[in-house]
Amino acid sequence: MLGSNSTTVLTGRKTVVFSIALLLCLGFVTTTLVSYQVSKRAIRDSIVTQELPLTSDTIYSEILKDLVRPVFVSSMMAHDTFLRDWTLRGEHDPSEIKRYLTEVMSKYTAFTSFYVSEKTRAYYHPSGILKKISPLEPRDSWYFRVRQMKDPYEINVDQDMANRDVLTIFVNYKVEDYNGQYLGAVGVGLTVDAVRTAIRDYQQRFGRDIFFVDHQGRIVLQSMRPGQQETNIHFIEGLRKMAPEILSNKNGSYQYENEGSVHLLNVRYIPELKWFLFVQKTEDEAMLGIRQTLYINLAVCLVITLVVLALTGATLGRYQNRVEELATTDKLTGLANRQAFDLLIHQAMNDAKRNQTPLAVLMADIDHFKEVNDRFGHLVGDEVLKGVATALKNGLRESDSVSRWGGEEFLVILKACGSEQARHLAEKLRLAVSSAPLWAELKVGAVSISLGVAELLPGDDMDALLGRADNALYEAKASGRNCVYSSAALLTLVPGSHDGDGPHDGDTDSHNSEDSGGNAPVA
Ligand code: GH3
Ligand code: MG
Ligand code: MG
Repeated sequence: MLGSNSTTVLTGRKTVVFSIALLLCLGFVTTTLVSYQVSKRAIRDSIVTQELPLTSDTIYSEILKDLVRPVFVSSMMAHDTFLRDWTLRGEHDPSEIKRYLTEVMSKYTAFTSFYVSEKTRAYYHPSGILKKISPLEPRDSWYFRVRQMKDPYEINVDQDMANRDVLTIFVNYKVEDYNGQYLGAVGVGLTVDAVRTAIRDYQQRFGRDIFFVDHQGRIVLQSMRPGQQETNIHFIEGLRKMAPEILSNKNGSYQYENEGSVHLLNVRYIPELKWFLFVQKTEDEAMLGIRQTLYINLAVCLVITLVVLALTGATLGRYQNRVEELATTDKLTGLANRQAFDLLIHQAMNDAKRNQTPLAVLMADIDHFKEVNDRFGHLVGDEVLKGVATALKNGLRESDSVSRWGGEEFLVILKACGSEQARHLAEKLRLAVSSAPLWAELKVGAVSISLGVAELLPGDDMDALLGRADNALYEAKASGRNCVYSSAALLTLVPGSHDGDGPHDGDTDSHNSEDSGGNAPVA
């Protein structure tokens, strides 16, 4: 109904709702993302400073634990009087040493056992003499290293040629005679299977990649899933750049990106094996939990925002309707006010022009209303105003609208109504007012209205139409009040010629002062 005004208010409401939505979203998203970032940092910190080093420590002590026994057994062998005596006697019967090595191997469940004599350079094995050691053979270099070293033993990871070159951890112990003269090297070997099992277990239980790297960057042992396996850290994208730094630093925490994921890495050097222990974890897997929380948080925020918006929208809508009502309604009479009338008349005029239907307005004014106020007071005057408003409202069709135009003036819009019909309606209203029982109740004597009727003419604007209605009303007042004058009659009149006469007799359209009973002053 109240077209342009409503759209302005509506866009205003949209702006408010949109602003609230924006603020809420901004607030929610900011706090959620900040707390996500904080949690992410905390998780990363705990992985780098606690989780990975702890795993590394555990694996290291596991390895040490596994090495204690072989070292002890090798030490016993190196100090065994049989071994030393047999060597000093001239190594006559190889079957004796063969039996000895077999016994050690089976008794201590070693993977292999060996003895290399310095004098004969024979490599004894539980299966017999394996070969002669030669300084020219690169694979025998370990022996000549052991011979030179100050420490009583070394741990060496090497391939065992007696066992199809399986990767083996050897404990190489120096054997000396009773005077401290070097006799050879003895010891046991164990496979890396135990270590392999341990790191696979860690991989499965904690989702950590564990691998051992030698000084050249070769990956000698790893827990990685097939397909992810690499042979050298120099082949791993992201790790390649820091490889020299890692291999020279020995211990430290690192972070690198590979195939779109961030890897957190802890490196520790294991001097016993001369290997680097790499323990790493993919950040994405660790963040899975909090990422899920992030999504839940965002969803909750979205729901809250929507609920707040719905509530705000509804509340604003209600207030807006109320404000619209207040802005367009006259408080005293409950009729549309002048502002609303402006909108109504424009709409009605547009409709009439578009549909080619007639349109008429009535301008009504209470006669001698000032006297009512003067004699009975403003409060009674207000009651009279309300009574007139009610009489007008009750006397009209649904499609008609009545507004309070000013103090005691009313305007009625009659849609699809020609001047003839309008005048009849005006007369009906005039009678309804003058015969209302309320005046007796209020003890104000007679109350009447005068009415001016005007019909919309082609080319009319609102002012022209209302001007004619006003003129007609003026004529009605001038001709003694409590009567109806029509502007159609005025058009035919020479201005000023009808003074005091009321409507012309010859012009039947002009009025119905016959019904009005002439001038009827209020008091
Ligand atoms: P006429 O017959 O020529 O119309 O005479 P009138 O006395 O009705 O006209 P006039 O314009 O002199 O007086 C109108 C009076 O209406 C004056 C004003 O105080 C009174 N009035 C306007 N609005 C209100 C209102 O809301 N309540 C009351 N009680 N009086 C009002
Ligand atoms: Mg007036
Ligand atoms: Mg008046």
